[in-house]
Amino acid sequence: MEVDKLNAVEQGLIFEIAKRDPYTFIVNYCSTVDEHGVGSRVKLYPRVQNIYVCNQCKVSYPIDFDPMNTPFAWREKGVLKVIEFKPCPRCGRELQIPWGYLKAIIDIWKITRKFLCPKSRQMLLSWTMVCCHLWEDIVAPNTLSMWQSKTEDKAKELIKRAGDVHSHFPQFIVDMESYGALKRPPSQLEYWFVNGSRVKAVPKGPEQATSFTCSSFLSDEMAYQEEAAAAYAEVVPTLGGIGRFTGISTLNGEEFFWRLINDKKEGEV
Ligand SMILES: [Zn+2]
Repeated sequence: MEVDKLNAVEQGLIFEIAKRDPYTFIVNYCSTVDEHGVGSRVKLYPRVQNIYVCNQCKVSYPIDFDPMNTPFAWREKGVLKVIEFKPCPRCGRELQIPWGYLKAIIDIWKITRKFLCPKSRQMLLSWTMVCCHLWEDIVAPNTLSMWQSKTEDKAKELIKRAGDVHSHFPQFIVDMESYGALKRPPSQLEYWFVNGSRVKAVPKGPEQATSFTCSSFLSDEMAYQEEAAAAYAEVVPTLGGIGRFTGISTLNGEEFFWRLINDKKEGEV
């Protein structure tokens, strides 16, 4: 981890910011684990670069990156490409800011209590949301995050990802009393932190969703959960003013998730 190379004062400063800012937390302490390749597959979470380079002019420029004004987009059935483009100050050619949309997504997630985002493959959105919820569970003690997906196995995969990210934290974080060790050994359906917070996988359906009162609820592949509308209607009132609802999904026609993100009522197109 890059952050391991910093001295204790520098680490402490970053850590103080990271406690308040999920993006700082994620780019410094979180990794992704590639489930498809072989060998060493742990990668640091991608960091938005703070310079961009014009290959034509061979000049680099600092990025004045404003996440709240960054258009981010996704392309169904394709690799996400649209990030932010800036014209080269010299030749005017459009230069891409890699991963710029991730910072925008994390910053928007942080300030909203209800966050819905369509996704495509290779966008890192599921990882990002796992990391955002980990951040919240770790910095705030005694939280309960419930993660629901289209099948129980898919929900377990999210819990496994939480464990993968947590087990690859830099050593100095692991050494901190309330951040490192688990209160209990992880199970496939639950992950506990020593500060009393936990994440819990729940299968689809409204009864499952409200079996516990949680502080945050993550619905994964929401457009593929037939009972998403019922679960949403049951869960949202239980979250009150401070709980968080996050829904992410690839699109699946004009169903409930699509209607929510497009602000449409049933039957309206
Ligand atoms: Zn140029």
